[in-house]
Amino acid sequence: MEKDKLAFIDEDIASLKEQGLFIHIRTIESAQGPWIIVDGKRVLNFCSNNYLGLANDPRMKEAAKKAIDQFGVGPAAVRSIAGTLSLHLEFERRIAAFKGVEDALYVQSGFCANQAAIPPLVGKEDVVFSDRLNHASIIDGCRLSGAKIIVYEHCDAADAERVIKENLPNYRRGMLITDGVFSMDGDIAPLDKLYEIAERYGVLTMVDDAHGEGVLGRGGRGIVDHFGLHGKFDVEIGTLSKAFGVVGGVIAGKRKIVDYLRQKARPFLFSSAVTAADTAACLAAVDILESSTELVDRLWENTRYFKAEVKRLGFDTGNSVTPITPIMLGEAPLAKEFSKRLFDYNVFAMAIGYPTVPRGKARIRVMISASHSKDDLDQGLEAFAKVGKELGVI
Ligand SMILES: *Cc1c(COP(=O)(O)O)cnc(C)c1O
Repeated sequence: MEKDKLAFIDEDIASLKEQGLFIHIRTIESAQGPWIIVDGKRVLNFCSNNYLGLANDPRMKEAAKKAIDQFGVGPAAVRSIAGTLSLHLEFERRIAAFKGVEDALYVQSGFCANQAAIPPLVGKEDVVFSDRLNHASIIDGCRLSGAKIIVYEHCDAADAERVIKENLPNYRRGMLITDGVFSMDGDIAPLDKLYEIAERYGVLTMVDDAHGEGVLGRGGRGIVDHFGLHGKFDVEIGTLSKAFGVVGGVIAGKRKIVDYLRQKARPFLFSSAVTAADTAACLAAVDILESSTELVDRLWENTRYFKAEVKRLGFDTGNSVTPITPIMLGEAPLAKEFSKRLFDYNVFAMAIGYPTVPRGKARIRVMISASHSKDDLDQGLEAFAKVGKELGVI
């Protein structure tokens, strides 16, 4: 009998299932918001990155509709051939001003932004110093560059200095890359210390602010604003798919670098532009954030309330200092059972296990939004208390 070429897939899937790591993907049948329809059931939404509730904001939808009437639905080209719309340039100017940097390049997603930004800046003769818990898109961008990747311990500036000192002399140049806010733990990088060290050794600096934009800093201007380091980091990666409520990625920073990436970044040169509708909605998000801090303030009010209460119930929320609230449970099967029971109580909060987080560090991740009312949060807390007791966690 011929050997089954695809047997390796069956084996791997069986192994994932055995370890409780097989992913079941739920289907959403409504707009994103504090309550959503999931697999036919109305549930409290603790899963989305819709920090400010902008994903279904009427002002954003109106802007997108208008852009469709003016520009149509598809970009029909990559940006470097015939796909750069006046809207793209306007958005790049506005987001650069919002973040307090010289220039910005708008690409298709945050994931794409890392693939676009890293390979032109470092190559085979170079070294990247990377936080142990950096996002998968950073890791993949580094791998794509061919540079040597040297990991330093999570948020440990002294360890970053140690690895730079030991390794930098063996390479042509180095770049330090860190998440701003770590998406699974909700803790933040010691950006001031990392910047100071990187400068001392003449290493390029890059921060991925996907979960900081619209959340941290004055009026949601991000982690660089939070630390008062405007214009210091060489590259700031951003996403428009989290707090901004749309989709797209941004590479912001020094003009010389951004201009260079317009010549070299392959996802920019070889993949079609973001649509006019998405771009117009992103512009509306900048307008909203610049006109008022109301949504960001409410996000933080909700965050403080939920965190204090969930800790009071006896749950461990790890090292989070942002609206990302992990409920640490340990083993993946327990986290999955916890999530399933929450769903029975009409609360949608996903279990997250390996490989998204290290083995033995499975958790439920609660994402707080400005769109939650206090009553929503109280209903969520009640469900956590019930399931926590049922499963002997609290
Ligand atoms: C979510 C995330 C991304 C990916 O952003 P998308 O716009 O969804 O592709 C990149 N980096 C970090 C740190 C993230 O948390």
